[in-house]
Amino acid sequence: VDGDRADSFDSDVCLYRRDVPDRIHHQDMARRSACRRNRGVFFSYHELSDEYRHLKGNAMISDIRIGQGCDVHRFTEGRPLILCGGKLPYERGLLGHSDADVAVHALIDALIGALALGDIGHFFPDTDPRYQGADSMELLRETLAHPAFSAWRISNIDLTLITQKPKLAPHIPAMKESLSSALSLPEERVSIKAKTNEGMGFIGRLEGMEARAAAVLIR
Ligand code: MG
Repeated sequence: VDGDRADSFDSDVCLYRRDVPDRIHHQDMARRSACRRNRGVFFSYHELSDEYRHLKGNAMISDIRIGQGCDVHRFTEGRPLILCGGKLPYERGLLGHSDADVAVHALIDALIGALALGDIGHFFPDTDPRYQGADSMELLRETLAHPAFSAWRISNIDLTLITQKPKLAPHIPAMKESLSSALSLPEERVSIKAKTNEGMGFIGRLEGMEARAAAVLIR
């Protein structure tokens, strides 16, 4: 919707387009309702298009945080390869104190980072025998159970997994489903991308893999 049409179409969209005041006060809410009444535009929330609901949702957000995380683990013989809580068929696995789920570790760091709570090592020290062989999906749930997260909801997450082998693309749907369920987030808000390192560096030499994650929290 362009500027002029936005005004005549709906004041909420208009507010969004003007980059939204820090806080929408009651006064603004009243003004917007009056504006909508005068123009004779009456919608129930569910009658709005998905796109409009998205814009309106953003207009009501009072605070946004972004976090990023990254992690690397070394490949080793005799361990399963676990990514996003699922076991992948590969002749080697990742070495680590826990189940070495590099994807979930990067994600946990992104979530912890968004609220400036420290890092995954601070939450789950690798010197603590409790986390020996730990299921990282359980660590993810434990992270989100931290009281600081109760005031926030996750808007979306974006993961990039970098490895030369195995080919991850066929496993992405299952990984998305697993994270979507653990985070109670629709799959359209869970992005997982896979790439190689073009044969370069430790990833190219098949010594290990890397994960990078971003998470956005809103309230
Ligand atoms: Mg790790």
